[in-house]
Amino acid sequence: MAQAPKQAKGKANAFAGIDWNAPFPAHKIVGNVYFVGSEQLGSFLITTPAGHILINSDYEETIPVIKASVEKLGFKFGDIKILLGSHAHPDHMSGDALFKELTGARVMVMEQDVPALRNMRQGGKEHPMDRILKDGDTVELGGVTLTAHLTAGHTQGCTTWTLKAEEGGKMYDVVVVGSLSLNAAVLVSNAAYPRIADDFRRSFATMRTLKADVFVGSHNGFFQMTQKYAKVSAGGTNPYIDPAGYKALIDSSEKAFNDRMRELTQSK
Ligand SMILES: [Zn+2]
Repeated sequence: MAQAPKQAKGKANAFAGIDWNAPFPAHKIVGNVYFVGSEQLGSFLITTPAGHILINSDYEETIPVIKASVEKLGFKFGDIKILLGSHAHPDHMSGDALFKELTGARVMVMEQDVPALRNMRQGGKEHPMDRILKDGDTVELGGVTLTAHLTAGHTQGCTTWTLKAEEGGKMYDVVVVGSLSLNAAVLVSNAAYPRIADDFRRSFATMRTLKADVFVGSHNGFFQMTQKYAKVSAGGTNPYIDPAGYKALIDSSEKAFNDRMRELTQSK
């Protein structure tokens, strides 16, 4: 989804009328994976006995929302040891430097997003990068292993994370989608990102190889969180177990890509 423009930050960061930092109830997704983001932005806490992992710090202004959510769930904000990200856009990673200051967490970023993150100097702060990840690298803490999958196109280092989570004696494959959104992407003759179209194609293929019993993503609309959360509150089977929804997200994203490519090549 949209990367908010530079002037659209902070409390008044309404972008297309959206308040990016509006709170949303913290809740369990599955097993040791929890939603701790805002109404719009997907931030996920993965708890372990050796401390916790957070995916997406979002904006600096979102961090108090995340902190309150972590504490509401009964965990300590300062126990977050590792910070990961979905991709180098400000709505997911411009809070990284402040987040590290507050928690001391190690910040791990995908290699291909490093140039974009170097330019993301929130408040003049250098973007922290304690470990540079390559496609397929794993991140381990307290018996939990996450795998970083390069799913580029939305950004050059856009990352989809996978892990296993246990609930009710069953193991579930969990996928945290980086983003497959086109936005205003220039898919042909893009001097800044010449291989963008090939990267998108490769990412659709990569995403199809990942097993997803449960999927979430960097924007809550990707996985219909509001609707699923309403079902969580009602009880019954876990609505986040939705392999068909995962496939539908890839299908609709790939269709949007193919439609855009067709338009571009036909208008020539
Ligand atoms: Zn983005």
